[in-house]
Parts: sequence; C-alpha cells; structure tokens
Amino acid sequence: MGSIAAEQNVEVLVIGAGISGIYMLYKLRELNISARVLEAGSGAGGTWYWNRYPGARFDSESWTYCYSFSKDLLNEWDWKEHFAPQAETESYLNFVVDKFNLREGIQFQSRVSSAHYDYSHNQWKVTTESGEVFNTHFLVTAIGSLTNPVLPRIPGITKFKGTWTHTGLWPKEGIDYAGKRVAVVGTGATGIQTIQEVAKSAGTLTVFQRRPNWCSPLGNRKIDAKEMESIRARYDEIFSICKTTPGCFVHQFDSRSVFDVSPEEREAFWEKHYYEPGFGLWMGNFRDVYTDKKANALLSEYVAKKVRERVKDPKVADKLIPTDHGFGTRRVPLETQYLEVYNQGNVELVDLNEESIERVTEKGIKTSKQEREFDVIIYATGFDPVTGSFNAIDIVGVDGQRLKELWAPGPKTQLGFLVSGFPNMLMAMGPHSALGNFPRSIEYSVEWIANLLGYARDNGISVIEATEKGQKEWTDHVRTCSEGLLVNDVDSWITGVNSNVDGKKTRTLVIFNGSAVDYRARCDKVARDQYKELSLKI
Ligand code: NAP
Repeated sequence: MGSIAAEQNVEVLVIGAGISGIYMLYKLRELNISARVLEAGSGAGGTWYWNRYPGARFDSESWTYCYSFSKDLLNEWDWKEHFAPQAETESYLNFVVDKFNLREGIQFQSRVSSAHYDYSHNQWKVTTESGEVFNTHFLVTAIGSLTNPVLPRIPGITKFKGTWTHTGLWPKEGIDYAGKRVAVVGTGATGIQTIQEVAKSAGTLTVFQRRPNWCSPLGNRKIDAKEMESIRARYDEIFSICKTTPGCFVHQFDSRSVFDVSPEEREAFWEKHYYEPGFGLWMGNFRDVYTDKKANALLSEYVAKKVRERVKDPKVADKLIPTDHGFGTRRVPLETQYLEVYNQGNVELVDLNEESIERVTEKGIKTSKQEREFDVIIYATGFDPVTGSFNAIDIVGVDGQRLKELWAPGPKTQLGFLVSGFPNMLMAMGPHSALGNFPRSIEYSVEWIANLLGYARDNGISVIEATEKGQKEWTDHVRTCSEGLLVNDVDSWITGVNSNVDGKKTRTLVIFNGSAVDYRARCDKVARDQYKELSLKI
C-alpha cells in the first residue's frame, strides 16, 4: 500500500532557484527566517540553468551582471570574459550557492503546479507536480520574466524524425549539429546568438525569419588576471553608476537631442557607440531616440546602413533590416559577426513573408514554396512573457480568485510586489517592476521583500497585502510612465506579446517603463513609512 507523504510546513516558501531565488534564500537565512526553495530544474541558476543553447551568453557586462552584495564573493570570483558564456554563469551561480551553503535549502526537480491561499489558516498550500504539499505562511515567487518556452504554432512539430528542441530546453548532453543540415526558426536575441554559433560548424544552416530585429555588435573579449584586478578595484564605482541609470546598466543616456548636433557629430557619436562593447548604442543614445519618431528614424537609418555594409547580397541585407519598428523599440540583440553569417555559402535566409511555413514534416520543414530537409531543427521562438511564469501555476487567492483570470486583461500590482486578494504572496521581479540589467534590479527587489518580511516578523504582522487603492495607483502610474514611449507601439515580449500564446496577441503593460531610479525611490518611501501604504494585519 502506498503511503501519503505528510504535508510540510515552512515559514517562507520561495519558488525558483534562479538569481532571485538564490539571493532570497540568502537574505532569509540572514534574517533567521526559515525558508525552503522549490526549483523545477535539477540544478540552480534559473535562466542560466535552462538556456544552454549554443552561443548563450550575457549581453550585459559580466562585472555589472554579477551579485554585488558580498565583497568576499566579488573578491573570490574572476570573470574570464566581458560577456560570460552560459557555462561560466552557471558555474558562478553554483559557486554562490555553495559558498553560502544554500544548496540544502533548495529542493530540486520540484516544479510547483499550484498555490492556493487558505483564508481560515492564513497560509498558502503549495503543491508540486509530483504531489508534494507545502503549507507556508509567506509565498515568494522568484520565477523570472522569461521562463516558459513557447513553441511556434506550426502543425507537425513532433512528427519530425530528426533532432529538434526549443533553445530554452536545450539538452544538457548537447546536440551534435556539426556538419549537419540545421534549421533555426526565430531571430530574437536567442536566435541570433544561436545562429552565429551554429553557423561555425553546421553543414548547412537555414534561418526561418518572420521579422528581423535591429542588432548591434557585442564587442566581447577575454579578461586576463590584470584586467580582472582593475575591474575588481572599480566594483564600488561600477555598481554606483548602475544605480544612477534608468535601466541599471553602466551606459547612460546623453542629455542632448539628436537634433542638437550636426549630422556629422551625430554620425560620429553613433559610430563610437556602435563599436563599443555592450548596450552602448541602445542605452547610451541621445535622450529622444525612443520618444521622437523622427529622431528614431535617423538612428534606424544609421544602423540599416551598417547592415548594408556588412551583408554582401543587397537583397539579403534588405531582408535583415526591420521595417515595422525602429531601432531600440524592441530588446536589441547583441551579436558577434551575426550579419556576416549571411555571407557564407552554406547559409540560407528564408523570409517567411515571402514563403510561409505550412508544416513540419518527418524530414524537415514545408513552406508554401518547397520542402527543405533537415537533421536538426532549433526553435528559438521565445517565452510566454512576464505573466507567463505565473500563468503556468494555478495561483488562487481569496474567494477563489484565479490570478490568471484577474490578470487576463493585463497585470495589476502594487509596486510590482503585491496583488490585492493574494495576501502574503510577494513577487521578486514581478510584473510592473523595473527590470533592465536584471541582477541589479533583482538585488533591490529581493532586499525590499526581505526587509518587509523582517518588519512583519519584528512587529507581529501576519497578513501583508496590496490595497485596492495602492494597486490602482501603481497600475495607473505604470500606464502614465509608458505614455509617449515608442517601445509601447511595438509587439514584443516587453509589451507582453507572444503570437503563440492565447490571450497574448495584443499589447499590455507588463513592465514598469519608467526609470529604475524612480522605481526604487518610490519603493524606498513605502518602506521608510513603515509600509503604511500596504494593508498589514496583526
Ligand atoms: P523573442 O525575442 O520573443 O524572439 C522569438 C523569435 O521567434 C522572434 O524572432 C519571433 O518572430 C520568432 N517566432 C515566433 N513564432 C514564430 C513562428 N510561428 N514562425 C516563425 N518565427 C516565429 O525570444 P528570444 O529570442 O528567446 O528572446 C527573449 C528575450 O530573452 C530577449 O529579448 C532578451 O531579453 C532575453 N535574452 C537575453 C539574452 C542575453 O542577455 N544574453 C540572450 C537571449 C535572450 P517575430 O519577431 O515575428 O515575433
């Protein structure tokens, strides 16, 4: 006779052992609050555990992306490249987990399927896919913004007899694509990293592109011991710069308008930023390039010229130049010789606006024009954005309210941390919070939650909830901050769109588009005022 496992009780249950969940556990330990982390994967790292596709690496400088909370950690870890590859980052995050003895606080291979609030006991009942049940006073979601991979809606995907995968589910043992006939579907940041890497050794590479994306060079290099020492000496300065920029990067917008300078000066400015490492061109541009269509058109034309210079065949170059959105109005993928891939004889770019995919067959992909045969098909087709990781869990609050239903027209939150009707559920990097250079925002988000939980413990608070008023104000504020930004006129994960997900075909406001500096100031004020703006009950 099988036995039913006893339900387990825990003060704080954290879902996810990515960068947020790891640090959350560290902070809760520091506060002496008992906590358990449930993680779906068999290892720590979240995004950097799952996304092990070829070419996966940081687009933020390694030394701006790492945790800043521990001097010892900063002293002990040497970054080997300015933009670290996935394997290095996964090792780093495991190093952090082991350095701070966090591993035994994380239960791996435990995917949470539901979280139901029990009003009479003021606790959350959390169930995993394998049927384990946890009762927890506080529930912290640390489940990421781009977590649940989405396959395209193409008939026949599973009929393919060769090897196929989504980039976000790349197998640990790898896929041998050297010398093989490879297809990549999707040309977002992930597709671009995959394509430029796979092109180095595939026999043939066929890229299926629905819409091109503007991209700019990554400018990666190795870091030797001497340079690492100089970076280390500047860590305080680096992190304080990140605290002053709207997106928490080291790149700062220029206070001038595009139209304040001559065409020659403008060109020289863009030329400098195009070739500098990282997001300089995206995040270090003139102040009006993402609010003024004419300014943005000039910038886009500059980047289009670069595409035409780098891609030999003008017809192919034209296909790689976006016409439906301006530079920087979607997340800009950073690349290393990506455009030059299309100069290789063994690479074909299939423009899905000219021939659409009809279905995947046993042998390959059939478009409206022809069937092409492949050994490997890679879907770099993105994620169910921002609310997707919440929608994947059956989250039920007071009076049987389902979070997925409440948020169907778009998320409602107070400060991105709390939702009215979902007491004691705290979201690290929830919808409507400032994202940007993720770990910078993660550290803030986790510290804010930890401070609130410490305050609750010290003051005998047993219920923490958003107020309807506070939630409405914040949701309205998120809307106000988005007004006039060109990014909100474009379909992308930033506007909550994924054409392959029901209910996500139209734009919603899923992230806070204002400055992270303002976001933190607002949240700091709430903490300074002893959380009076929230609903706290003894
Ligand atoms: P994505 O930006 O959503 O791109 C998905 C791609 O798949 C798009 O090109 C999309 O075309 C295409 N697609 C979707 N359905 C399709 C279909 N049925 N047929 C053909 N093409 C289809 O996803 P992602 O590239 O995984 O990137 C998501 C985000 O993850 C990035 O923006 C970035 O924030 C993050 N990321 C970060 C890093 C890093 O830091 N290094 C690396 C990778 C990703 P459409 O454009 O037409 O929709």
